[in-house]
Amino acid sequence: MLNFPPPLNTSELALLREEVRDFVRAEAPSRSYEYLGGDNRNFSRKIGAKGWIGMCWPDRYGGGERSLLERYVVSEELVASRAPIAFHWIGDRQAGPLLLRYGTEEQRQRVLPKIISGECRFCIGMSEADSGSDLASVRMKATPVNGGFVLSGAKLWTSGAHRSDYVIVLCRTSARTEARHEGLSQFLIDLRTPGIECRPIENMAGERDFNEVVFNDVFIPADALVGKLGEGWKQVGDELALERSGPERFLSSVGLLFELIDLLREQAGSTHAPAVGRLVAHLAAVRHLSRSVAGMLQQGQVPAVEAAVVKDIGTNLEQEMAEVARTLAGCEPDLTAAGLGGSLAQVLLRAPSFTLRGGTREVLRGIIARGIGAR
Ligand SMILES: Cc1cc2nc3c(=O)[nH]c(=O)nc-3n(C[C@H](O)[C@H](O)[C@H](O)COP(=O)(O)OP(=O)(O)OC[C@H]3O[C@@H](n4cnc5c(N)ncnc54)[C@H](O)[C@@H]3O)c2cc1C
Repeated sequence: MLNFPPPLNTSELALLREEVRDFVRAEAPSRSYEYLGGDNRNFSRKIGAKGWIGMCWPDRYGGGERSLLERYVVSEELVASRAPIAFHWIGDRQAGPLLLRYGTEEQRQRVLPKIISGECRFCIGMSEADSGSDLASVRMKATPVNGGFVLSGAKLWTSGAHRSDYVIVLCRTSARTEARHEGLSQFLIDLRTPGIECRPIENMAGERDFNEVVFNDVFIPADALVGKLGEGWKQVGDELALERSGPERFLSSVGLLFELIDLLREQAGSTHAPAVGRLVAHLAAVRHLSRSVAGMLQQGQVPAVEAAVVKDIGTNLEQEMAEVARTLAGCEPDLTAAGLGGSLAQVLLRAPSFTLRGGTREVLRGIIARGIGAR
């Protein structure tokens, strides 16, 4: 059954929160509705210098050995303020922890210090054409050859690949059998390797954010394998669990809510308070659940079903914020406009992706149904 123990709050966490707010006020060069505020290598370097990347990783790689709750506070403040953190986000949230758990010592020493200092960008190479929710059906092949593997195939929707240094790809390393989840493996790949081609795909907001990444018989050395040959399915499952319940799953549109509240505050006698109050109450509830999951992760638990609940409720709320703002704003969404009209257009064009990226609504609900014994 579902379990959401009350989240911990301490005076140390409150102080850290203030420190991040002061830092963002002084240092954040821009505030954008792009995913995670967009890429800015210089800003990520500054975050790295503050010790806010790899915060929970071992000291021997340059990590801070701090708690997951401290990391949560830093992430929440950065996401809520729309500071540009996309450059280091995937390395910090996902690739680094994966390498800590499954990577070789050589891989960790080569890559983790660069993630921590905000010097290197990672992207996620899981999805392919006709293989998104059902990752067991990936077709990209890694064929063993003398000294390594040859990769052939293509990944799709790879966010930020054209700006990244590394990708971790999931490939088939032995032919598909009845046991669909077997024969998959993960590889750590330098995107400058000859034979890799990034083809841009424009999103609805007109940005070049994701790509098709084509591998034309790319040779990679044997030491690019992450973890064990054929165990990619389990490893990927662990990786996905890291990306479901954080503040980036309910705060993508919160800047729009703040802007809306500012506007309504100026309008004497506005009757919109109940609609905004309802959103704020829902936001407080999701935040409570998300922080509760962070607390459980800190204690070494694996709250996969609770994390799916947070992502499902959180991403639906992000979409609802955009719809409520559209109804109450009193202006048309307009990408060329300053102020609320511009922000509204930015968020509305991105909102459909909130319930797709990182696991679709239906897939999450399937996980929840199984978790509570309803399926
Ligand atoms: C903005 C954005 C960024 C992304 N970035 C990346 C990235 O960096 N790297 C990466 O690897 N991928 C990325 N993706 C891909 C994303 O993970 C997939 O789009 C997602 O997993 C869904 O896969 P799909 O698009 O193949 O849809 P499908 O899996 O084909 O799903 C189509 C529809 O069928 C439903 N469906 C599928 N299976 C089931 C089921 N078992 N039960 C009920 N309903 C089901 C889905 O909910 C959906 O509505 C990104 C996607 C977006 C939108």
